[in-house]
Amino acid sequence: MIAYCYMYLKSLEIHGFKSFAEKVGLTFLPPTAGRHSLTAIVGPNGSGKSNVADAIRWVMGEQSMKTLRGKKGEDIIFAGGEGRGKMGEARVTMTLDNSDQRMPIPYDEVVITRSIDRLGSSEYLICGNPTRLFDLQVLLAQAQFGHGSYSVIGQGMIDRLPLQTPSERKDFFDEACGIKEFQIKRNQAS
Ligand code: ATP
Repeated sequence: MIAYCYMYLKSLEIHGFKSFAEKVGLTFLPPTAGRHSLTAIVGPNGSGKSNVADAIRWVMGEQSMKTLRGKKGEDIIFAGGEGRGKMGEARVTMTLDNSDQRMPIPYDEVVITRSIDRLGSSEYLICGNPTRLFDLQVLLAQAQFGHGSYSVIGQGMIDRLPLQTPSERKDFFDEACGIKEFQIKRNQAS
């Protein structure tokens, strides 16, 4: 019997991002019997559940502060509170299982890191190597994975789908069709 494993989010490490002053590591359940597992994060209102989803979007290259529920870049760095001073840097690391090679790079595990400091200097790393945002976006698109689409479904997003214009709705499905990679490359070239 061949055990088939789909690409999935293995773990997330958040440090200095929004409400996460302490370094927090989350480990997600692997697929079992060829099916994806479900991990639920529960907590009272305002405890930071949506900040986890924001961290996932951000590490995948999200550029829109509106989507990240902030106004300016430094809004995503821990601003201080509960007796702690503000932090100088936010860093999020996401580890994806790539044993099905859905991302066409020779790693069974792909580790993506994004960091930013208060001076605005930021960095993307793929498996420890500094990377351009463009290359990260292409890699994610090749795996039909990305921050802007169905990979991360935020609060109220499904409610808004029927109200979107056809072209906004098309954007949502382009990623699933596998054409996003080519759109990103075309935009870069023009
Ligand atoms: P709800 O269930 O109401 O949607 P939630 O658990 O999803 O809530 P979040 O929206 O993720 O909560 O978290 C909101 C909290 O994050 C607020 O307390 C807010 O003060 C805190 N927060 C957001 N940005 C920062 C920041 N830069 N520094 C410190 N705290 C922050």
